[in-house]
Amino acid sequence: MRAERHEHAGAETRDFSIPGGCILCGGDLEVRMGPSGACSFCSACRWLSRPHMRRGDEGVEVIHPAGLLA
Ligand SMILES: [Zn+2]
Repeated sequence: MRAERHEHAGAETRDFSIPGGCILCGGDLEVRMGPSGACSFCSACRWLSRPHMRRGDEGVEVIHPAGLLA
């Protein structure tokens, strides 16, 4: 059980996961959206990234900047 609490006026934190969203191993990507941007984490290969989030017609798009591959 995760119990994190961040008190920021007007800030909204949302967590969601993208099945197969990891571009490294194809595992499920957990994405956390916070006031300072989005953070993604793959529990399979432990890849951390800060993708760009964009709201499109089909929902939220996650865009990984190029050049992050190790
Ligand atoms: Zn992965």
